[in-house]
Amino acid sequence: MLKNWGGFLKMGTMKALMKVSKGKGNIEIRNVPIPTIKKDEVLVQVKYVGICGSDLHIDDDEHPNYPPVILGHEYSGIITEVGPEVKGWEVGERVISELHAGACGECVLCKTGNVFACPQKHPIGWWTNGSYAEYIAIPAWLLHRIPAKLSLLDATLTEPLAVCMNILQRTPVAPQSFVTVIGPGPIGILAALAAKAAGARGVALVGRDSSRDRLKLASELGVDLIINSSTQNVESEILSLTNGMGADLVIETGGSEASVWEALKVVRKLGTIAALGVGKGTYNFPWNEAIFKAINIVFSFSANYLAFEQSLHLLAGGRIPAQKIISGTYPLEAWAEAFQALKQRKALKLVLKIK
Ligand SMILES: [Zn+2]
Ligand SMILES: [Zn+2]
Repeated sequence: MLKNWGGFLKMGTMKALMKVSKGKGNIEIRNVPIPTIKKDEVLVQVKYVGICGSDLHIDDDEHPNYPPVILGHEYSGIITEVGPEVKGWEVGERVISELHAGACGECVLCKTGNVFACPQKHPIGWWTNGSYAEYIAIPAWLLHRIPAKLSLLDATLTEPLAVCMNILQRTPVAPQSFVTVIGPGPIGILAALAAKAAGARGVALVGRDSSRDRLKLASELGVDLIINSSTQNVESEILSLTNGMGADLVIETGGSEASVWEALKVVRKLGTIAALGVGKGTYNFPWNEAIFKAINIVFSFSANYLAFEQSLHLLAGGRIPAQKIISGTYPLEAWAEAFQALKQRKALKLVLKIK
């Protein structure tokens, strides 16, 4: 009955990239035991892990983290072991997973499909051990199958794209609507492409001159209009494209006070601002301008089950061209170099290859 289950006596060690103690830096590769799975878990041999902006913030100690902990959450891999209580999953299947380890499954948020907001969750990658390692143990109920048409490498974009799909569930893109995305990072570019895939009549992406290369890439990927806010007047550009109305939906991914103000300037009356950019504290906010525009503001983080499935569907169907968004891969050992390249904006999205 205990087929494919190592129980509590798993032997062997693996390499893992860990935050070893609090503070800036303190990230290193260590040899740690290969995890033993619980009865409702599977063991996944990790193949690729995308580097998330949150990993860079953990390096700079600007994002919550609970060391010692294995970092990483945007992973893909292959099931190598299945717990005895797991149903419906087999050794050899290609998977990604949600991050929401520890979610209770019992509270109102879990029962309404919002597992990501469960107060019990201890996400993998900064609270519970994550995926910058040769293996990860994960509860089977957090798994998603990678469609046959999608490669293991490209599947690493599932989670960041799911973050965008999650907010688009709450503020759907109407087919005739004009969408403006602020911030040309990976989330901004994925959000712009997701809005296009959802049927927007036009999508504009706003970024500064320091993100020139990313703006150029977004244009090549089919974003309708690129606005360089260092050289162009964002408000007048958007107004001229929308008969003086403003954007129906503004997706804010920058998280700075300046980008929040920009969002408010370019959103139309009774339009919506979708806030995805994690900020740095308390902002001044032009309250009355928001009142007299009668806007909606929707905040969002992380992603629900459906958003992960939507994301896999869009990636597998080629609607989101993963190969062009992933700038390159580095071996796990070269993690520091890859983190540095991203911090210096020399690349849009980098992926660590584990094996
Ligand atoms: Zn992420
Ligand atoms: Zn719960």
